[in-house]
Amino acid sequence: MGLFDPIKGFGVTFSTMFRKVVTEEYPEVMKVTAPRYHGRHQLNRHPDGLEKCVGCELCAWACPADAIFVEGGDNTEEARFSPGERFGAIYQINYLRCIGCGLCIEACPTRSLTMTNEFELADDNRQNLIYTKEQLMAPLLEGMEQPPHPMRLGENEQDYYVNGPQLARGEKPTEKPTEGAVR
Ligand code: SF4
Ligand code: SF4
Repeated sequence: MGLFDPIKGFGVTFSTMFRKVVTEEYPEVMKVTAPRYHGRHQLNRHPDGLEKCVGCELCAWACPADAIFVEGGDNTEEARFSPGERFGAIYQINYLRCIGCGLCIEACPTRSLTMTNEFELADDNRQNLIYTKEQLMAPLLEGMEQPPHPMRLGENEQDYYVNGPQLARGEKPTEKPTEGAVR
């Protein structure tokens, strides 16, 4: 240790004493995150309330922390949860493992899985940090209906992806070409 090192050290302490103090008043004042902050996940819905998840498990395979568990199920005409053949029957994310990398949402082919800005993911027991499908599902907005229910926006899955974005913006669906028509 040099002769002047303690003086240098006290210099740092002394200069810090005059800096502006930053006081976070969380949880009384919630911190505003960056718009694309990777917070709690959400499983999204089509504009009629049917689920976008098709139970393909690509999110689970993409996850480097093995934090996602998905089990797909078959839709039937009596009980339909998504427009296609399959839906996510069981869906869980373990927030004890999740590192918020976002690889799962990149892997999702239907944009079912996205991340919200919600960052309060702490608890005092492990079980509460395994979020179930019910906890992750997006809320039902106006005009949405709780599944299971029949397809309201078309005859098949493709109609949902062709018309879904327009319907979500409150626009008219794309008209189907009549049979034999030249496009
Ligand atoms: S954000 Fe990353 S770690 Fe968390 S569930 Fe998705 S892929 Fe896994
Ligand atoms: S959230 Fe997306 S990637 Fe994951 S199972 Fe559902 S559709 Fe597949």
